[in-house]
Amino acid sequence: MVSALIISLLFIFSNPFPSVHSDAAPEPSPSTNNICIIGSGIAGSTVAHFLRHYSDDPSFPTINGIRIFERHRIVGGRMATVSIGGDTFEAGASILHPKNYHASNFTKSLNLRIKEPSSDSSDSSLGIWDGTQFVFKTIPLNPNSPLYNKIVSMANSLLIFFRYGFSLFKMQSFVDNTVGCFLKYYTDLDSRPVFETVDEMLKWSGLYRLTRRTLQEELVDAGLSPRIISELVTVITRINYGQSVAISGLAGAVSLAGSDAGLWSVGGGNWQIAAGLINSSDVTLHLNEEIESITHLGDYYELNSTKGISYACEVTVVATPLDELNIQFHPPILIPERKLQHTHTTFMRGLLNPAYFGLRSVSEIPELVGTVEAPDLPFSSISILKKYTEEDMAHKIFSRKPLTDALLDQIFSARKETIRIDWGAYPHFTAPEVFAPFVLDGLHLYYVNAFENAASTIETGAVAAENVARLILSRLSSRTTSSSTNLQNSASGGESLHFEL
Ligand SMILES: Cc1cc2nc3c(=O)[nH]c(=O)nc-3n(C[C@H](O)[C@H](O)[C@H](O)COP(=O)(O)OP(=O)(O)OC[C@H]3O[C@@H](n4cnc5c(N)ncnc54)[C@H](O)[C@@H]3O)c2cc1C
Repeated sequence: MVSALIISLLFIFSNPFPSVHSDAAPEPSPSTNNICIIGSGIAGSTVAHFLRHYSDDPSFPTINGIRIFERHRIVGGRMATVSIGGDTFEAGASILHPKNYHASNFTKSLNLRIKEPSSDSSDSSLGIWDGTQFVFKTIPLNPNSPLYNKIVSMANSLLIFFRYGFSLFKMQSFVDNTVGCFLKYYTDLDSRPVFETVDEMLKWSGLYRLTRRTLQEELVDAGLSPRIISELVTVITRINYGQSVAISGLAGAVSLAGSDAGLWSVGGGNWQIAAGLINSSDVTLHLNEEIESITHLGDYYELNSTKGISYACEVTVVATPLDELNIQFHPPILIPERKLQHTHTTFMRGLLNPAYFGLRSVSEIPELVGTVEAPDLPFSSISILKKYTEEDMAHKIFSRKPLTDALLDQIFSARKETIRIDWGAYPHFTAPEVFAPFVLDGLHLYYVNAFENAASTIETGAVAAENVARLILSRLSSRTTSSSTNLQNSASGGESLHFEL
């Protein structure tokens, strides 16, 4: 019997759960450096971390209290896990690049476990589906035969080369050049300016021009063939951003880097990076508390929450995309319009139906089915996450629209468990991109996710957040700081911050 468990993230998150810090604490004096951060994802947690880290330097002002507000009952935002069939899988941000140095440093300093992709998942067979047939397929490996696998891996490399030729190297070089520019954001503080705008930050690293044109335009100029762009590149952009090669060149390059070798994740869930940073940054965490309005009142901002509590904050940091939120700003702020791309992630325990793909047996279906841009193609990708038996596997499906039960019953011959998540996943990347400012009001109201339409990843969020932390400190340093007792960290132990979806 098929038991379809339809779960929307919002529904789960709205479950009442005691907040770690739900008391109406006496308000600190607005004359101290109290910083309020809205959002406990990678952006909010990284701002808190670097505020503490850099304010150790006596040349920077003292930060008295940091509050993080999170509307849900868990931290991590789009770093979240889901449990299916007793196993835990990443539901949102799942992979990190080997050169994601902030994420990797955080993971090491927080003593989290780095999980390399298992050999069978990195060597998953790939098929490119156009809605009627597989236009390209690699040969599946055999988990019990290492020698056979070596030969098959070589054969697969040849197959890919025969289909896409030297365009493969041109694609890699495009990605390497982009990653090379991005690495400038890790250079030491003396040689790296503090950026007031996203445009300035991107121009400094040499990445700005990639946000002006589409990925397709960039790749045609780089000499890639139409075939690799419409097949392999499209498969990757559809998997990583749910969008076509019409996305901006920078988001496209970041997306392509997500198919490099050496990808990794945090064992047990990437959300633990945010939880660890929050725990170690002397933060007062307000879970289940949504900020409804931000009002500028002279020397400070008054934040009003859904709990009916007001907070006085000298500095306010918005660490979440504002595009689908309804926070009231007084006075109003004006930012460029931006749309979010919704990605529907469906987790399915069951068995794929070979007949749907015009095949005779399940074993002929590639472990990763990517897709090209074709009208009416209902999904972007299907991947096998885990094989329990030959007839029982966990799958992850990405699609631009929700998948109906009727359609799932065509794609799968057996369905045991179904979990659906609708993510307001990342910006709908549109070249030329127009960026909101990091400082929303010219005063002390900051917006980390102004950077997100350059590219949306854990690492780009961390890089933007580090810059915002430096920007706050440098803009505060001209002001007199007064001493005050540090607010207590009311959340201790990573476990208390996270619950599975
Ligand atoms: C399906 C999917 C797959 C992805 N895959 C990858 C990947 O493999 N690798 C990668 O690096 N990136 C990936 N990403 C992108 C990555 O998840 C994001 O770029 C990153 O996590 C964004 O972090 P953030 O902190 O800026 O925002 P978020 O993680 O969205 O955090 C914002 C937080 O603010 C909270 N909030 C919002 N409004 C309020 C309010 N008014 N009051 C209080 N709290 C509020 C939200 O609940 C949320 O927890 C993926 C994203 C999705 C959706």
